[in-house]
Amino acid sequence: MKFIDEFRDGRVAASLAHRIHADVIPGRSYHIMEFCGGHTHAIARYGLPDLLPASIRLVHGPGCPVCVLPVGRIDSAIALARDAGVILCTYADVMRVPASRRQSLLTTKAAGADIVMVYSVQDALSVARAHPNREVVFFAIGFETTTPPTAAAILEAERAGLGNFSVFCNHVLTPSAIQSLLDSPEVRKLGRVRIDGFIGPSHVSAVIGSRPYEFFAEEYEKPVVIAGFEPLDVLQAVWMLVRQINEGRCDVENQFTRAVTRDGNLKAQALVGRVFELARTFEWRGLGDVPYSALRIQGRYARFDAEPRFGVRYEGAPDHKGCECGAILRGVKQPEDCRLFGTACVPENPMGSCMVSSEGACAAHYTYGRYRRDTAAARRRAAGAS
Ligand code: SF4
Repeated sequence: MKFIDEFRDGRVAASLAHRIHADVIPGRSYHIMEFCGGHTHAIARYGLPDLLPASIRLVHGPGCPVCVLPVGRIDSAIALARDAGVILCTYADVMRVPASRRQSLLTTKAAGADIVMVYSVQDALSVARAHPNREVVFFAIGFETTTPPTAAAILEAERAGLGNFSVFCNHVLTPSAIQSLLDSPEVRKLGRVRIDGFIGPSHVSAVIGSRPYEFFAEEYEKPVVIAGFEPLDVLQAVWMLVRQINEGRCDVENQFTRAVTRDGNLKAQALVGRVFELARTFEWRGLGDVPYSALRIQGRYARFDAEPRFGVRYEGAPDHKGCECGAILRGVKQPEDCRLFGTACVPENPMGSCMVSSEGACAAHYTYGRYRRDTAAARRRAAGAS
């Protein structure tokens, strides 16, 4: 399969691993954050840490859109579906994220609320067309990759005069999250993780380009390599970062040239700029309130904005006691550091958001991690004995 098989070739992977081993400087350690959940998934699925020298530590970042949605936002969506009488359209993963009072969108649906699982915002538009006498709200989440389709849907609803469609907007921005990791007040509370370089997201960068990362390379002196989601993409990005770190360079390099340019997709950016504007602040799970890190619908499209339309109120709410998702999303802890990992919290019964989506660090570790072979059974035995 073109652009898939050649990026999963075992012999090339071995050769890349050999080059990485040859290039690491003895006595030096390398802390590399993969921002994006797609990379976290690939790293766990293909066992990439096993190919790397022990001196390279891959640190998970907050790049899973389901994971970073705070409990309060799920609570607001539940209130919309339960109390405002709307048909709420949302993605399957979001339905399983735990909210306050042991609720989730799934339990709310089971209790009778009209919640529909969709694969895209276009599906939500179809629901609105099929139910002209009901209010239909799309629970929009995601980074820059999913924002242009939401903008297009709002414009389509306007053109079609679809008065019963609106969007509960939770679209967030990658560069603001990276900046928050490097210098937000939460660093003092949750600790700072050492980051020597970033593996930059691929799909997001296809939209926004590589230019926004130049700020981090210049101002924070952190090298960035934008990489695809296949195992060879990630290995090559690690090798490129090792070489930058060795040479003391802080550049933005693009491993994913097959889809990413410096300027990105200008048409998609124009579409987003037409419908959305920067929200002054947005709460992220694990990062707290991050200024100018999310998008809101512009006033001229207010009738498609579910928040004013249904008087959605936002209240922050804590994660499950004992859940370490916040620290994991900042990279200061690993899934195995959470005492609920693999015992009370498993993909079939997630206690936190990082165990829900396949891009979440806990789900990736649980599904593909070596821990299953050697520590899971011991943990379960210990949990059963206590
Ligand atoms: S194992 Fe579960 S409870 Fe613990 S951090 Fe991960 S998602 Fe949260």
